[in-house]
Amino acid sequence: MSTATCPIVGCRLSVDIVLKSSDGALVGSHKANLDSFGDAFPSTHQSPIDMSEIESTLKILMRFIHPGSHPDVSRLTSRELFSLAYAAEKYKIRDAMTVCSRHIMGLVEKYPVRSLGYAVKCNYPKLANVAAPWTVFRDPTTMKKVLKEARSLCAWLEYKLDFVGKYCQQLSIPVEAYTGVADLSQCLAWEKYHSGVLAKFSAMVQGGPSPVHTEKHGDIFDVEIPVCSRWNCICKMAGGGRLQLEDVKRTWKGRVLDEMKKNQSIFTTSFLNTSDGTG
Ligand SMILES: [Zn+2]
Ligand SMILES: [Zn+2]
Repeated sequence: MSTATCPIVGCRLSVDIVLKSSDGALVGSHKANLDSFGDAFPSTHQSPIDMSEIESTLKILMRFIHPGSHPDVSRLTSRELFSLAYAAEKYKIRDAMTVCSRHIMGLVEKYPVRSLGYAVKCNYPKLANVAAPWTVFRDPTTMKKVLKEARSLCAWLEYKLDFVGKYCQQLSIPVEAYTGVADLSQCLAWEKYHSGVLAKFSAMVQGGPSPVHTEKHGDIFDVEIPVCSRWNCICKMAGGGRLQLEDVKRTWKGRVLDEMKKNQSIFTTSFLNTSDGTG
């Protein structure tokens, strides 16, 4: 029929089933291993089996059905990793599912949108909640592409609205309440800085294909403090001049971020139904 070989170097098991990748390659495998390491493999009565994964994904996946051959997934590209993760879920290759979901948990900050999409599709509520905060400054169009289903997108929109509402509330509390400094309401420099932060926040909430760094919530505060034009302002009388406002800015940022952490929004995962294997 074909001369497909097992991709695992040194494997001595006989090839009794052939998988055909979506890009046309034939990958040899073993019925008994597929049955014992996975729970949802397509029927092995027919060979070759048409698979929807590409050759490289199948080859990595096959390593998980050979004891002692598990690959180091940290060496995979993000594309390889997510393809493997989805294939592992589809065929219920348990070891691969565990390894991939744990590894993705550690990459959430780097790939928040894809991680959330994977978490929702594959029922990992804990991972969804870790990934969600990193996606709040994304736009619905981007999220729709990964979340796909209406209920997931609704859950994300609810999450984003709740998060944005809480953040707005925190940003509108007068800075004095947080930092204990004297009244800065008359300081023109602080007023301009504060409006700058609000404008930046508003622009980020609009979302869009933002670069990775704008997903860090603390970046909102990175707006330059202008020179105060009130000659007798408290920011000058206090002796430190602009330097003192930089201190206020740092303290304010720390406090707002702390409050947001304490008061985290929850990504509703009640529509997910299986237990979370990510720990
Ligand atoms: Zn083999
Ligand atoms: Zn001032």
